[in-house]
Amino acid sequence: MTDPLSHSYYSATAHDWLVDADIEGAYACDVAVIGGGFTGLSAALACAERGFSVILVEAERVGFGASGRNGGQLIPGLRWSASELEAEFGRERADALFDLCWRDNRVKHRIATHGIDCDLKAGHLEAAWTPKDFDAMRREADYLGQRHSYETDVVAKADMDAHIASPLYHGGVYDPQGGHFHPLNYAIGLAKAAEAAGVRILQGKRANWILDGNGGELFLDRSTIEARYVIDATDSWIGEVEPDLGRYTVPIMNYNIATAPLANADALLPTDAAVADSRFVLNYFRLSADKRLIFGGGERYSQTPPRDIAAFVRPFMAEVFPQIANAEIDYGWGGAVAVTMNRLPHIGRRGNVFFAHGFSGHGALITTTAGELIAEALAGTAERFDVLASLPSRPFPGGKWLHRPLATLGLLYYALKDRLG
Ligand SMILES: Cc1cc2nc3c(=O)[nH]c(=O)nc-3n(C[C@H](O)[C@H](O)[C@H](O)COP(=O)(O)OP(=O)(O)OC[C@H]3O[C@@H](n4cnc5c(N)ncnc54)[C@H](O)[C@@H]3O)c2cc1C
Repeated sequence: MTDPLSHSYYSATAHDWLVDADIEGAYACDVAVIGGGFTGLSAALACAERGFSVILVEAERVGFGASGRNGGQLIPGLRWSASELEAEFGRERADALFDLCWRDNRVKHRIATHGIDCDLKAGHLEAAWTPKDFDAMRREADYLGQRHSYETDVVAKADMDAHIASPLYHGGVYDPQGGHFHPLNYAIGLAKAAEAAGVRILQGKRANWILDGNGGELFLDRSTIEARYVIDATDSWIGEVEPDLGRYTVPIMNYNIATAPLANADALLPTDAAVADSRFVLNYFRLSADKRLIFGGGERYSQTPPRDIAAFVRPFMAEVFPQIANAEIDYGWGGAVAVTMNRLPHIGRRGNVFFAHGFSGHGALITTTAGELIAEALAGTAERFDVLASLPSRPFPGGKWLHRPLATLGLLYYALKDRLG
């Protein structure tokens, strides 16, 4: 791998997968997919299942981006709560969003259908940083139960030790429908399934440009691919492929560590749930299959990584789990989270170019759905795709040069507010 940030626990424990597909000259296919993360792989697989000829082009390796580096937390829904969606968009649209984003777990479906070996575990705990956060969580859990018959467990502060050996939290909500997994092995599993369904996957190939209109043409080093449809699934890199779409997100660097295997791992997280807390710059953590703590915490608004990622993340881990403050840390890595203005993904279609990006740190689960909905729309049924594509979105202000600094200022403001309580 060419990016030092991608040297992770995941890359060290990735399943083997060799592809040597290459092309030279002019090619044509029904669908060209740019980007081999969850979105692109899911879309490619679903298109091939519908009988389209598909070529997927990945600049580095499958799972090189956020999909192979994330916290592995499978959190049903979007960054907005279900009740916020209903308040903003009304009952009917909120119901449609709920069905797609909470109820229909396509990751579980893919794992079961293709027998993907990626350490899938059930259970996600949202932990309240403040009593006020806990009140809001409790209200949302009531809403989910009453309005959608979606059952979660509200966990009082006194009962939190059943899930987590940390004194920090004021209660939480446990969602048995959530969970966690090894994201890179899931991406590799999707790639194998896509390949078996007929997708041609080209790694180490950067697509340079899309000409839209009635179709698209991708320019690679020694070849061109002409396609009836193009799917741009490049997320944080989307501005390099399509500059206008790049204005809808900013990349926020986020860092993870993996400790050495811990003798007391089960005592830290007795139900083996993935945990995310309610801070604006959140902590999120879980156990790996070999009993390491994988911990994400702290964001950086500069693109330059800290010199020592372990030293950067350790204090956040030590605050949550003082009992392992000095644990050995075997891996530290990071990646860019593509964040939109309103924290809802930006999904759509321009001519015959489809795109989905900006999942705002909440993409591990919903990207698989988004890819499948793109395939559905491309095959002619856009009803469910439109549910996501009609979410509001607008570019960050500030034009090409200023949108990143202005967005960063906004994010710093919220991070500071969080720190000051
Ligand atoms: C550190 C970190 C932790 C996270 N933790 C969580 C979590 O716990 N739970 C959660 O729900 N979400 C999490 N996320 C977010 C989640 O990982 C993403 O939303 C999701 O993986 C996005 O998938 P994607 O396929 O759209 O993009 P990516 O996985 O980024 O894939 C884009 C791909 O496009 C390729 N590419 C770019 N440009 C080109 C080009 N010109 N030609 C060819 N290929 C190109 C890249 O190499 C890359 O592989 C996290 C993200 C990060 C970075």
